[in-house]
Amino acid sequence: MDENRLKRVKSFSTQPIPGKPPRLRLRITAAAENRVRSGHPWIFADSVREHNREGAAGELAVIFDRKDKFLAVGFFDPESPIRVRVLHLGQPQNLDAVWWQERFAAAIGRREPLFDERTTGYRLINGESDGWPGLVLDLYDQTCVVKLYTAAWLPMLGQITSMIRDRLPSGQIVLRLSRNLQSAAATFSEPKRDGDILSGMLPSEIVVFLENGIRFEANVIRGQKTGFFLDQRENRREVEKLAGGRDALNAFSFSGGFSLYAARGGAKSVTDVDISAHALAAAERNFKLNLAGGKIAQCRHERVQADAFEWLAGGQSRKFGLIILDPPSLAKREAERAGAIRAYARLAENGTRHLAGDGILVA
Ligand code: SAH
Repeated sequence: MDENRLKRVKSFSTQPIPGKPPRLRLRITAAAENRVRSGHPWIFADSVREHNREGAAGELAVIFDRKDKFLAVGFFDPESPIRVRVLHLGQPQNLDAVWWQERFAAAIGRREPLFDERTTGYRLINGESDGWPGLVLDLYDQTCVVKLYTAAWLPMLGQITSMIRDRLPSGQIVLRLSRNLQSAAATFSEPKRDGDILSGMLPSEIVVFLENGIRFEANVIRGQKTGFFLDQRENRREVEKLAGGRDALNAFSFSGGFSLYAARGGAKSVTDVDISAHALAAAERNFKLNLAGGKIAQCRHERVQADAFEWLAGGQSRKFGLIILDPPSLAKREAERAGAIRAYARLAENGTRHLAGDGILVA
């Protein structure tokens, strides 16, 4: 352990600091304690057994175990059923600026070896998986988009902005807020709105970036999530390998991510189905951005604005050699699970009815 770290660990204290409220301390159920100990990053509201006082969004809460020893520290969120998002587990630790910088550098460092100049858009921080629960950071060329899923991050925004700027001094930083925290953000001490620019100047809400050599646009201010579904990159590469010589259907196509890869993979045609006219228009523009690339220019691109569940269930009789089904999430809570499983099954079944003899379904 380096000396600085040692000092920081020693200075961790649950003693009150004069003039400040006592540190927020929680005790949780035995089952929750076991889950946290094995690495689960969430503590649900109904697992909290005791707390020494009320807490505010973004406060650090310290979790003590059955033997009254430090178990973990995390962000408190009084509005969310996920009451604490664990940031650190194990030995007592002060989450100071150095600790945050190290955590930031670790996430960025994991990606650095993965990409070359053919990919200028990718996820830099992937929420819970990187130890940043409820926060996603996506990079689109010179534009960083921070997406928050809990108000607990709002007090950290200044610090996050400066960490990003240290790394990307010439770029812009855009803030995106999930719907459930927009009102909390509007009444926060430094009010924030979805689409706020945290740093730099954004010449246009549409940013063009490269993914594996294909050009895409992302609407970083108004697009879904952060503007593009970067998390499907590896699946898109698989689709590229499967598409040669086939007529492809991309259901729930959004801006045509899978479609462009299918086209570059040699698909004869690609049909996009999406309920959103904006999404289909973006897909059309994305094709136009790539007309210099031979195979994409040769591929026939069709767009259908429709409810894809109904379109696939309905009477139309077209067959496709490759069908991609990537619907929006169908269950947001436990009570919706059974219905969602049935809907997925029906969707896959309706999809297979449109497959040509040797067709491939990607779902
Ligand atoms: N596959 C895409 C991401 C899909 S996101 C990609 O890799 O980029 C889900 C998409 O489904 C959104 O574009 C949304 O507009 C669309 N959508 C939602 N409900 C729909 C429905 N009932 N029918 C067709 N499209 C729908």
